[in-house]
Amino acid sequence: MSKKGSIDVMTGQRLTGLEQKGVSRRDFLKFCTAMAATMGMPLSMADLIAETVGSAKRPPVIWLHFQECTGCTESLLRATHPSIEHLILDLISLDYSETLNAAAGHQVEEVLHNSVKENEGKFILVCEGSVPTNDGGIYCKIGGSTALDIIKDIGPKAAAVVAIGSCASWGGVQSAAPNPTGAKGINQILTDTTIINLPGCPASPYNLLSTILYYLTLKKLPELDAMGRPKFAYGRLVHENCERRPHFDAGRFAEEFGDDGHRQGWCLYKLGCKGPETYANCPIQLYGDVGSNAWPVGTGHPCFGCTEKGVGFTKPIHQQATVFTVTPPATYPDIVEEKTTGGWTIGGAAIAGAAAGAAVTAGIKVAKSLSEQETKDNQTSEKEKS
Ligand code: SF4
Repeated sequence: MSKKGSIDVMTGQRLTGLEQKGVSRRDFLKFCTAMAATMGMPLSMADLIAETVGSAKRPPVIWLHFQECTGCTESLLRATHPSIEHLILDLISLDYSETLNAAAGHQVEEVLHNSVKENEGKFILVCEGSVPTNDGGIYCKIGGSTALDIIKDIGPKAAAVVAIGSCASWGGVQSAAPNPTGAKGINQILTDTTIINLPGCPASPYNLLSTILYYLTLKKLPELDAMGRPKFAYGRLVHENCERRPHFDAGRFAEEFGDDGHRQGWCLYKLGCKGPETYANCPIQLYGDVGSNAWPVGTGHPCFGCTEKGVGFTKPIHQQATVFTVTPPATYPDIVEEKTTGGWTIGGAAIAGAAAGAAVTAGIKVAKSLSEQETKDNQTSEKEKS
């Protein structure tokens, strides 16, 4: 007899909730394969991920909202297919979220403080929004306390802290000059704590899901870059994986919105695209599940660098980006195999990511038709063979 809310990957019985939402067990396993590729794991790790989803003890999660628009939570909840938020909410025990709490007022504040007390050192803290620091932090108060006091109190008691969205990662739009509230990212407040930054405006729900799956599957945090971002998601420039890159290399640029070049899908560099200086997996992971061009550049809008501190909300959209890589380098670094757990390598992340790009695309559309999936799987096989 299946338990409520759990998943049996062997029989499919515990996938009932997903199946009711149009996600078959077969689709689910494909999704796990895509997640393995996203995280730089061998595709064989998909079974372990599926098993983790089915059996992992759901970690308590406290989700705090500070100075922000709630766009990250809303984009997670409003995904066009039901599996992503279903998977995330199935994987965790969401003890407190100001957006999703059914209760309100003193009652819910009590829930928050009880959960922190009972789960000290064990819960995952997800923070959405920046923290205003000017004038004692009075520009954001919840339940009578400033965001500044709340994060200083609760942050150090968490097992892991995830800053979701650009606001929580480095201040976001609130920190744009002249930054009247003194908005800061979580890592500027909790300076002694490792913060996992998942910037984006809004952040990709798939990067949150991958991070949670990574933590639950391997029992450790993913490798982070210098900005505190998981390398598996933010290890490459947008420019490196952009479908318009051949036009950039050939010197074919849209000169203005709506001109012939723009209509023909040429490079958006001259329209201010910040892809050449922005690290994110948007071109591979896509966004919003509304088709193969479901990301800003795919729809004809320049990347504005929302995942990159010092670029998004800082450089004007019309300003052309700094291009780090125009011509291929004369020498190349060695491929280093960095052994971690279970025989897979972080160093393989880029290779796996490139080879499985089509698989990722297929995986994030698990609720869509099987015929679509089959097509993408075939593309994946061909890529992996080559
Ligand atoms: Fe793509 Fe922008 Fe780079 Fe052009 S400049 S190839 S549109 S990321």
